[in-house]
Amino acid sequence: MTNWNDDAARDLMSLGGRLALLTRGEGSWVWDADDNRYLDFLGGIAVNCLGHAHPVFVEAVSAQAATLAHVSNYFATPPQLEIAARLKRLAGTGERGRVFLANSGTEANEMAIKLARLHGAQPSAGEGAARTRILVVEGAFHGRTMGALSLTPKAAYRDPFLPAVPDIVAVERTLESLEAAFAEGGVAAMIVEPIQGEAGVVELPEGFLARARALTTAHDALLILDEVQTGSGRTGEWFAFQREGVIPDAVTLAKSIGAGFPLGALITFASASDLFYPGTHNSTFGGNPLASAVANAVLGFVEDEHVLDNVNARGAQLRDGVAALPLVAGTTGAGLLIGIRLSAPVAPAVAAAAQERGLIVNAPTPDVIRIAPAYTIGDTEVQEFLTRFGAALADVAATTTTPSEKP
Ligand code: PLP
Repeated sequence: MTNWNDDAARDLMSLGGRLALLTRGEGSWVWDADDNRYLDFLGGIAVNCLGHAHPVFVEAVSAQAATLAHVSNYFATPPQLEIAARLKRLAGTGERGRVFLANSGTEANEMAIKLARLHGAQPSAGEGAARTRILVVEGAFHGRTMGALSLTPKAAYRDPFLPAVPDIVAVERTLESLEAAFAEGGVAAMIVEPIQGEAGVVELPEGFLARARALTTAHDALLILDEVQTGSGRTGEWFAFQREGVIPDAVTLAKSIGAGFPLGALITFASASDLFYPGTHNSTFGGNPLASAVANAVLGFVEDEHVLDNVNARGAQLRDGVAALPLVAGTTGAGLLIGIRLSAPVAPAVAAAAQERGLIVNAPTPDVIRIAPAYTIGDTEVQEFLTRFGAALADVAATTTTPSEKP
């Protein structure tokens, strides 16, 4: 076999090393080119909600590819109409909701920025002139294209590409900072993740989202939720906002909605549905029949088979199970988006040790391991995970001095 690492270094854009050459997958397992088997608890970063090669996914791709894969956006198709109606129903938008289908999370967020601009350009009773400010939250990750990157306050991601889209302001994760940002005026929208996945599965402070809703309403600004990572059932509800009792003006989705097929979406509620008009947005591939048919099949299966019950039950089982393992200081997140907080900044070493033990997880920050397995995992996968993860933690604990052990 060729040395794939050399090939990757020579031919792929140099944006970071690759961990293995994966060649096939089945259920929660993937195999590398040397036939080593790994339990995949990262799921393509919260994407493979049905695992790998699930018959529902395979059948949907094959059947639609053999029927009608792509047409231009001058035409509607039955799968596109079906997924739009389905997303409206699942999000609870009622009749006034509208859906646009894109190809990724970052693209859905580009559209969210445009939605904010259209809203801010409208006359507003209390605010006078056009409002251009968009509030985001420290630690946020909204994507890598220039607009979504501008929403992402992380310097390492953003600074090489400055200047950013102007008038985007990051607030701290506190109610005081939120209040102060609105008090300055000129806010067109706030864009926020209900749980910050890339920041290390960080939950917002108690009452933050409800206060953001109250303040956006009071200042005639939009509340736009980035549910790219938390949506489509990942947290055990169709959308994380449904856990909080907050109704947004718009939601962005991607990742699990296509279970591995590239797809994103913007869903609008109420008057936010009236902002776009012909000519203001579109996409060649967005919502093509192939992507739409896959999303319908995936979400239809999750709904018909009550898979979200499993997401909640397995999430609880995993949280309980990891609590007893070495180096584990606690967990964050909801459903099957779980941040496992470690008592020392050894998460990259734990992720590497896990891979050695045939387990895929990742370390979004130095002291957090993130897992986002398939919604369909059962007892076998949970026990395999706990065994392999426990062994990886023990490997690292054997070479780590925790703060309390320091002389
Ligand atoms: N928004 C959130 C909350 C994300 O977690 C991500 C990706 O991790 C994105 C947006 C960007 O999505 P994509 O990588 O599909 O462009």
